Amino acid sequence: MTTTTLGRPVAVMAAMLAIGATAPAIAQEVTGTRQTPLVITSASNDAPTREESNYRRSIAKMQSQNAALQTFGYRLAKANAPFCSRAITSIGILLHDRAAYDRPDIARRMFHAASDIGVQAVAGGSAAARASIPVNAAILAVDGVPPPEPQTPLWRRLTAMHDAIDASLMADGSVAITWTTDTGASGASITTLTGDPVCRTRFEIHPKTDRASADGERVIFGTEFAGFDYAPHEFAAAIAHELAHNILAHRARLNATERTSAAIRVTEREADLLSPWLLANAGYPPRAAEAFMRRWGPDHGGGLFRKRTHDSWQDRAAAIGREMALIESAQAGQPDGTKLDWRLQLPRIRAAAARL
Ligand SMILES: [Zn+2]
Repeated sequence: MTTTTLGRPVAVMAAMLAIGATAPAIAQEVTGTRQTPLVITSASNDAPTREESNYRRSIAKMQSQNAALQTFGYRLAKANAPFCSRAITSIGILLHDRAAYDRPDIARRMFHAASDIGVQAVAGGSAAARASIPVNAAILAVDGVPPPEPQTPLWRRLTAMHDAIDASLMADGSVAITWTTDTGASGASITTLTGDPVCRTRFEIHPKTDRASADGERVIFGTEFAGFDYAPHEFAAAIAHELAHNILAHRARLNATERTSAAIRVTEREADLLSPWLLANAGYPPRAAEAFMRRWGPDHGGGLFRKRTHDSWQDRAAAIGREMALIESAQAGQPDGTKLDWRLQLPRIRAAAARL
Protein backbone atom coordinates (compact mmCIF):
# COMPACT_ATOMS: atom_id res chain seq x y z
CA MET A 1 0.00 0.00 0.00
CA THR A 2 1.59 3.19 -1.16
CA THR A 3 0.70 6.68 -2.17
CA THR A 4 1.10 6.77 -5.89
CA THR A 5 -0.02 9.08 -8.63
CA LEU A 6 -2.50 7.35 -10.87
CA GLY A 7 -3.72 9.52 -13.67
CA ARG A 8 -6.86 8.12 -15.14
CA PRO A 9 -10.26 7.27 -13.72
CA VAL A 10 -11.68 3.87 -14.06
CA ALA A 11 -13.88 3.86 -17.11
CA VAL A 12 -11.22 4.62 -19.67
CA MET A 13 -8.91 2.10 -18.10
CA ALA A 14 -11.45 -0.63 -18.66
CA ALA A 15 -9.45 -0.94 -21.84
CA MET A 16 -6.99 -3.05 -19.90
CA LEU A 17 -9.44 -5.24 -18.05
CA ALA A 18 -8.24 -8.69 -17.18
CA ILE A 19 -10.42 -11.35 -18.66
CA GLY A 20 -12.03 -14.44 -17.26
CA ALA A 21 -11.86 -13.44 -13.62
CA THR A 22 -14.55 -14.45 -11.21
CA ALA A 23 -16.49 -12.10 -8.96
CA PRO A 24 -14.70 -11.56 -5.66
CA ALA A 25 -16.06 -13.22 -2.55
CA ILE A 26 -16.23 -9.96 -0.66
CA ALA A 27 -18.81 -8.41 -2.92
CA GLN A 28 -21.24 -11.09 -1.84
CA GLU A 29 -20.97 -9.70 1.67
CA VAL A 30 -22.15 -6.26 0.69
CA THR A 31 -25.51 -5.41 2.05
CA GLY A 32 -27.72 -2.51 1.16
CA THR A 33 -30.47 -2.04 -1.31
CA ARG A 34 -30.25 -2.75 -4.98
CA GLN A 35 -26.66 -3.90 -5.15
CA THR A 36 -27.57 -6.43 -7.79
CA PRO A 37 -27.23 -5.16 -11.35
CA LEU A 38 -30.63 -4.84 -12.95
CA VAL A 39 -30.03 -5.06 -16.65
CA ILE A 40 -27.34 -7.35 -17.90
CA THR A 41 -28.91 -8.80 -20.99
CA SER A 42 -27.92 -8.69 -24.59
CA ALA A 43 -29.77 -6.35 -26.90
CA SER A 44 -29.82 -9.03 -29.56
CA ASN A 45 -30.75 -12.69 -29.53
CA ASP A 46 -27.32 -13.71 -30.75
CA ALA A 47 -25.19 -15.52 -28.21
CA PRO A 48 -22.19 -13.37 -27.29
CA THR A 49 -18.78 -14.46 -28.55
CA ARG A 50 -16.21 -15.81 -26.12
CA GLU A 51 -14.36 -12.48 -26.32
CA GLU A 52 -17.52 -10.59 -25.47
CA SER A 53 -18.39 -12.98 -22.65
CA ASN A 54 -14.94 -12.49 -21.13
CA TYR A 55 -15.19 -8.73 -21.44
CA ARG A 56 -18.61 -8.74 -19.81
CA ARG A 57 -17.27 -10.84 -16.95
CA SER A 58 -14.49 -8.31 -16.43
CA ILE A 59 -16.97 -5.44 -16.33
CA ALA A 60 -19.15 -7.39 -13.89
CA LYS A 61 -16.17 -8.17 -11.67
CA MET A 62 -15.20 -4.51 -11.52
CA GLN A 63 -18.78 -3.55 -10.76
CA SER A 64 -19.05 -5.99 -7.86
CA GLN A 65 -15.71 -4.79 -6.49
CA ASN A 66 -17.01 -1.23 -6.76
CA ALA A 67 -20.12 -2.18 -4.80
CA ALA A 68 -17.92 -3.33 -1.93
CA LEU A 69 -15.50 -0.41 -2.15
CA GLN A 70 -18.22 2.25 -2.32
CA THR A 71 -20.15 0.70 0.58
CA PHE A 72 -17.22 0.23 2.95
CA GLY A 73 -15.53 3.47 1.90
CA TYR A 74 -18.72 5.47 2.34
CA ARG A 75 -19.31 3.98 5.79
CA LEU A 76 -15.79 4.95 6.90
CA ALA A 77 -15.99 8.41 5.34
CA LYS A 78 -19.39 9.16 6.85
CA ALA A 79 -18.62 7.88 10.34
CA ASN A 80 -15.47 9.98 10.57
CA ALA A 81 -16.79 13.13 8.88
CA PRO A 82 -17.17 15.09 12.17
CA PHE A 83 -13.39 15.05 12.56
CA CYS A 84 -12.21 15.49 8.97
CA SER A 85 -10.96 18.96 8.11
CA ARG A 86 -12.18 18.44 4.55
CA ALA A 87 -15.76 17.17 4.69
CA ILE A 88 -18.26 17.36 1.85
CA THR A 89 -21.84 16.22 1.26
CA SER A 90 -22.33 12.92 -0.57
CA ILE A 91 -25.24 10.85 -1.89
CA GLY A 92 -23.06 7.73 -2.29
CA ILE A 93 -23.42 7.16 -6.02
CA LEU A 94 -20.70 6.16 -8.50
CA LEU A 95 -21.36 6.58 -12.22
CA HIS A 96 -19.70 5.12 -15.27
CA ASP A 97 -19.60 6.17 -18.91
CA ARG A 98 -20.14 3.41 -21.43
CA ALA A 99 -18.58 5.54 -24.16
CA ALA A 100 -15.32 5.56 -22.23
CA TYR A 101 -14.76 1.80 -22.27
CA ASP A 102 -12.36 0.66 -24.94
CA ARG A 103 -15.19 -1.58 -26.16
CA PRO A 104 -18.18 0.77 -25.91
CA ASP A 105 -20.08 -1.54 -28.25
CA ILE A 106 -19.92 -4.38 -25.71
CA ALA A 107 -20.61 -2.06 -22.77
CA ARG A 108 -23.68 -0.70 -24.53
CA ARG A 109 -24.97 -4.17 -25.41
CA MET A 110 -24.39 -5.30 -21.85
CA PHE A 111 -26.28 -2.45 -20.23
CA HIS A 112 -28.69 -1.62 -23.06
CA ALA A 113 -29.74 1.70 -21.62
CA ALA A 114 -31.14 5.07 -22.53
CA SER A 115 -27.88 6.91 -21.80
CA ASP A 116 -24.17 6.14 -21.85
CA ILE A 117 -23.96 7.49 -18.29
CA GLY A 118 -25.13 4.85 -15.83
CA VAL A 119 -25.02 3.98 -12.15
CA GLN A 120 -21.91 1.86 -11.59
CA ALA A 121 -22.44 1.37 -7.84
CA VAL A 122 -24.48 2.65 -4.93
CA ALA A 123 -23.00 2.77 -1.45
CA GLY A 124 -25.07 0.85 1.10
CA GLY A 125 -26.53 3.22 3.69
CA SER A 126 -26.24 6.28 1.46
CA ALA A 127 -28.93 8.67 0.25
CA ALA A 128 -28.86 6.98 -3.17
CA ALA A 129 -29.47 3.58 -1.53
CA ARG A 130 -32.32 4.98 0.59
CA ALA A 131 -33.85 6.43 -2.56
CA SER A 132 -33.53 3.05 -4.30
CA ILE A 133 -31.85 4.41 -7.40
CA PRO A 134 -30.87 1.09 -8.99
CA VAL A 135 -27.43 0.01 -10.08
CA ASN A 136 -27.24 0.25 -13.88
CA ALA A 137 -30.00 2.83 -14.13
CA ALA A 138 -29.29 5.32 -16.92
CA ILE A 139 -28.67 8.90 -15.80
CA LEU A 140 -30.45 11.42 -18.00
CA ALA A 141 -29.77 14.65 -16.09
CA VAL A 142 -28.29 16.22 -12.96
CA ASP A 143 -30.39 19.16 -11.76
CA GLY A 144 -32.11 19.08 -15.13
CA VAL A 145 -28.87 19.34 -17.11
CA PRO A 146 -28.24 16.39 -19.47
CA PRO A 147 -24.79 14.79 -19.62
CA PRO A 148 -22.37 16.71 -21.84
CA GLU A 149 -21.09 15.28 -25.11
CA PRO A 150 -18.12 12.88 -24.80
CA GLN A 151 -14.92 14.74 -24.10
CA THR A 152 -11.24 14.10 -24.77
CA PRO A 153 -9.71 12.40 -22.90
CA LEU A 154 -12.71 10.16 -22.45
CA TRP A 155 -12.63 10.06 -18.63
CA ARG A 156 -13.29 13.79 -18.50
CA ARG A 157 -17.05 13.55 -19.01
CA LEU A 158 -17.44 11.19 -16.07
CA THR A 159 -15.39 13.46 -13.85
CA ALA A 160 -17.57 16.37 -14.94
CA MET A 161 -20.71 14.44 -13.95
CA HIS A 162 -19.34 13.65 -10.49
CA ASP A 163 -18.18 17.25 -10.12
CA ALA A 164 -21.68 18.49 -11.05
CA ILE A 165 -23.26 16.30 -8.34
CA ASP A 166 -20.71 17.49 -5.76
CA ALA A 167 -21.20 21.16 -6.72
CA SER A 168 -24.97 20.88 -6.43
CA LEU A 169 -24.68 19.24 -3.00
CA MET A 170 -22.21 21.88 -1.88
CA ALA A 171 -24.56 24.66 -2.97
CA ASP A 172 -27.70 23.60 -1.11
CA GLY A 173 -27.25 20.06 0.28
CA SER A 174 -29.40 18.36 -2.36
CA VAL A 175 -29.30 17.27 -5.98
CA ALA A 176 -31.98 16.17 -8.44
CA ILE A 177 -31.13 13.05 -10.46
CA THR A 178 -33.16 12.12 -13.53
CA TRP A 179 -32.86 8.39 -14.15
CA THR A 180 -34.56 5.48 -15.85
CA THR A 181 -34.27 1.73 -16.14
CA ASP A 182 -36.11 1.77 -19.45
CA THR A 183 -34.23 1.73 -22.72
CA GLY A 184 -35.96 4.97 -23.68
CA ALA A 185 -36.38 8.21 -21.76
CA SER A 186 -40.15 7.88 -21.42
CA GLY A 187 -40.12 6.10 -18.06
CA ALA A 188 -37.79 8.56 -16.36
CA SER A 189 -37.98 9.45 -12.67
CA ILE A 190 -36.64 12.58 -11.02
CA THR A 191 -35.36 11.91 -7.51
CA THR A 192 -34.17 14.73 -5.28
CA LEU A 193 -31.58 13.48 -2.82
CA THR A 194 -30.29 15.09 0.34
CA GLY A 195 -26.73 14.03 1.03
CA ASP A 196 -24.81 13.25 4.20
CA PRO A 197 -21.48 14.68 5.38
CA VAL A 198 -18.45 12.53 4.56
CA CYS A 199 -14.70 12.93 4.63
CA ARG A 200 -13.82 14.13 1.16
CA THR A 201 -12.44 11.26 -0.94
CA ARG A 202 -13.58 9.47 -4.08
CA PHE A 203 -13.19 5.69 -4.20
CA GLU A 204 -12.19 4.06 -7.48
CA ILE A 205 -11.32 0.65 -8.91
CA HIS A 206 -8.59 0.47 -11.56
CA PRO A 207 -7.94 -2.61 -13.65
CA LYS A 208 -4.85 -4.75 -13.87
CA THR A 209 -3.03 -3.79 -10.73
CA ASP A 210 -2.85 -5.31 -7.26
CA ARG A 211 -1.95 -2.01 -5.62
CA ALA A 212 -3.87 0.27 -3.31
CA SER A 213 -3.10 3.97 -3.27
CA ALA A 214 -4.27 7.37 -2.13
CA ASP A 215 -3.52 10.58 -4.02
CA GLY A 216 -5.11 13.14 -1.74
CA GLU A 217 -8.41 13.25 -3.60
CA ARG A 218 -8.99 9.58 -4.39
CA VAL A 219 -8.53 6.15 -2.87
CA ILE A 220 -7.79 3.63 -5.62
CA PHE A 221 -7.76 -0.16 -5.50
CA GLY A 222 -6.60 -2.38 -8.33
CA THR A 223 -8.87 -5.20 -9.47
CA GLU A 224 -6.16 -7.67 -8.45
CA PHE A 225 -5.78 -6.33 -4.91
CA ALA A 226 -5.57 -9.36 -2.61
CA GLY A 227 -7.84 -7.85 0.04
CA PHE A 228 -10.94 -8.30 -2.12
CA ASP A 229 -10.81 -11.96 -1.12
CA TYR A 230 -10.34 -11.27 2.59
CA ALA A 231 -12.99 -11.01 5.28
CA PRO A 232 -15.06 -7.81 4.82
CA HIS A 233 -13.71 -6.09 7.92
CA GLU A 234 -10.15 -6.80 6.77
CA PHE A 235 -10.86 -5.21 3.39
CA ALA A 236 -12.41 -2.29 5.27
CA ALA A 237 -9.11 -1.99 7.17
CA ALA A 238 -7.22 -1.62 3.90
CA ILE A 239 -9.62 1.15 2.85
CA ALA A 240 -9.21 2.82 6.25
CA HIS A 241 -5.43 2.90 5.77
CA GLU A 242 -5.75 4.61 2.37
CA LEU A 243 -8.44 6.99 3.62
CA ALA A 244 -6.13 7.91 6.49
CA HIS A 245 -3.51 9.02 3.95
CA ASN A 246 -6.02 11.45 2.45
CA ILE A 247 -7.39 12.66 5.79
CA LEU A 248 -3.84 13.43 6.90
CA ALA A 249 -3.01 15.14 3.56
CA HIS A 250 0.07 12.98 3.09
CA ARG A 251 0.36 13.56 -0.63
CA ALA A 252 0.54 17.32 -0.12
CA ARG A 253 3.10 16.87 2.63
CA LEU A 254 5.31 14.63 0.50
CA ASN A 255 4.99 17.00 -2.46
CA ALA A 256 6.15 19.88 -0.27
CA THR A 257 9.30 18.15 0.93
CA GLU A 258 11.94 15.86 -0.39
CA ARG A 259 10.29 12.55 -1.17
CA THR A 260 12.68 10.30 0.68
CA SER A 261 12.01 6.72 1.74
CA ALA A 262 12.17 7.87 5.34
CA ALA A 263 9.55 10.60 4.77
CA ILE A 264 7.24 8.10 3.05
CA ARG A 265 7.78 5.61 5.86
CA VAL A 266 6.60 8.16 8.44
CA THR A 267 3.38 8.74 6.47
CA GLU A 268 2.80 4.98 6.25
CA ARG A 269 3.18 4.65 10.01
CA GLU A 270 0.72 7.47 10.61
CA ALA A 271 -1.85 5.87 8.29
CA ASP A 272 -1.35 2.51 9.99
CA LEU A 273 -1.92 4.01 13.46
CA LEU A 274 -4.94 6.13 12.50
CA SER A 275 -6.70 3.34 10.59
CA PRO A 276 -8.03 1.39 13.63
CA TRP A 277 -9.58 4.61 15.00
CA LEU A 278 -11.39 5.13 11.69
CA LEU A 279 -12.59 1.52 11.78
CA ALA A 280 -13.85 1.84 15.36
CA ASN A 281 -15.98 4.88 14.51
CA ALA A 282 -17.52 3.04 11.55
CA GLY A 283 -18.49 0.06 13.72
CA TYR A 284 -15.81 -2.26 12.37
CA PRO A 285 -13.56 -4.11 14.82
CA PRO A 286 -10.43 -1.95 15.13
CA ARG A 287 -8.35 -5.10 15.41
CA ALA A 288 -9.17 -5.72 11.76
CA ALA A 289 -6.30 -3.33 10.92
CA GLU A 290 -3.81 -5.66 12.58
CA ALA A 291 -5.55 -8.74 11.17
CA PHE A 292 -5.31 -7.32 7.65
CA MET A 293 -1.59 -6.68 8.05
CA ARG A 294 -0.92 -10.20 9.34
CA ARG A 295 -2.83 -11.69 6.45
CA TRP A 296 -1.60 -9.42 3.66
CA GLY A 297 1.99 -8.96 4.82
CA PRO A 298 3.53 -12.42 4.39
CA ASP A 299 2.62 -12.64 0.69
CA HIS A 300 2.64 -8.97 -0.33
CA GLY A 301 4.60 -6.85 2.13
CA GLY A 302 8.14 -7.86 1.20
CA GLY A 303 8.63 -5.59 -1.81
CA LEU A 304 7.57 -2.46 0.04
CA PHE A 305 9.87 -3.38 2.94
CA ARG A 306 12.84 -3.85 0.61
CA LYS A 307 12.21 -0.39 -0.85
CA ARG A 308 12.40 0.97 2.71
CA THR A 309 9.23 3.00 2.16
CA HIS A 310 7.41 0.77 4.66
CA ASP A 311 8.40 -1.06 7.81
CA SER A 312 8.23 -4.84 7.83
CA TRP A 313 4.69 -6.16 8.03
CA GLN A 314 5.52 -7.69 11.40
CA ASP A 315 6.56 -4.30 12.82
CA ARG A 316 3.52 -2.65 11.25
CA ALA A 317 1.12 -5.20 12.73
CA ALA A 318 2.75 -4.87 16.15
CA ALA A 319 2.53 -1.07 16.06
CA ILE A 320 -1.15 -1.21 15.09
CA GLY A 321 -1.74 -3.75 17.87
CA ARG A 322 -0.37 -1.27 20.41
CA GLU A 323 -3.17 1.15 19.49
CA MET A 324 -5.81 -1.28 20.72
CA ALA A 325 -5.42 -0.56 24.43
CA LEU A 326 -5.69 3.17 23.71
CA ILE A 327 -8.84 2.71 21.62
CA GLU A 328 -10.42 0.48 24.22
CA SER A 329 -9.72 2.97 26.99
CA ALA A 330 -11.08 5.81 24.86
CA GLN A 331 -14.23 3.76 24.27
CA ALA A 332 -14.61 2.81 27.93
CA GLY A 333 -17.20 4.83 29.77
CA GLN A 334 -18.60 6.31 26.57
CA PRO A 335 -22.19 5.59 25.56
CA ASP A 336 -22.43 3.15 22.67
CA GLY A 337 -22.28 4.86 19.35
CA THR A 338 -20.24 7.83 20.55
CA LYS A 339 -17.57 8.63 17.99
CA LEU A 340 -13.94 8.81 19.03
CA ASP A 341 -12.39 12.17 18.26
CA TRP A 342 -9.12 10.85 16.88
CA ARG A 343 -7.87 14.40 16.32
CA LEU A 344 -6.88 14.26 20.00
CA GLN A 345 -4.61 11.33 19.14
CA LEU A 346 -2.79 12.92 16.21
CA PRO A 347 0.04 14.62 18.12
CA ARG A 348 0.87 11.31 19.79
CA ILE A 349 0.51 9.35 16.54
CA ARG A 350 2.77 11.79 14.69
CA ALA A 351 5.39 11.62 17.41
CA ALA A 352 5.27 7.82 17.48
CA ALA A 353 5.52 7.62 13.69
CA ALA A 354 8.54 9.90 13.65
CA ARG A 355 10.24 7.91 16.38
CA LEU A 356 9.49 4.30 15.52
ZN1 LIG B 1 -0.03 3.46 2.66
